[in-house]
Amino acid sequence: MDNQVDEIKQKLNIVDVINRYLPLKKRGRNHIACCPFHGEKTPSFTVSEELQIYKCFGCGKSGDIFTFLQEYERLDFREALTELAAIAGIVLKKSEFVSEKDSLKKNLLEINTQVAKFYNYILTSHVLGNSALDYVQKRGVTLDTIKQFGRY
Ligand SMILES: [Zn+2]
Repeated sequence: MDNQVDEIKQKLNIVDVINRYLPLKKRGRNHIACCPFHGEKTPSFTVSEELQIYKCFGCGKSGDIFTFLQEYERLDFREALTELAAIAGIVLKKSEFVSEKDSLKKNLLEINTQVAKFYNYILTSHVLGNSALDYVQKRGVTLDTIKQFGRY
């Protein structure tokens, strides 16, 4: 994932990208515009070609081409990635479409699975689980049932 993100960052110049959405004026080493994220009449939105970042000295918003597109067009990371890849002429690999949200969900599921395995082990194979095992067996839950539900 990071490789293609880096590839896109290397291929695109933040000044050209932001210029597509917001006309920039060159001032010294930077480019400036009136900030799209807060109302202002004198430009404090500054883009550094050198650092490939933007920063607004009025409202404090800052970031790179990905955060700019996410904020400016109200996109999630995946949508911004797709749009910037298209601008850069890069074909995304399928795995690049895994959004941050999806990978968070995957991590939570993995943690949940590990915790379930741990408690399954305590219940069925450790001395600490003896009294709980007695209890569930008295309630009619057999070891077979526990094993069946404990398969991951
Ligand atoms: Zn601002």
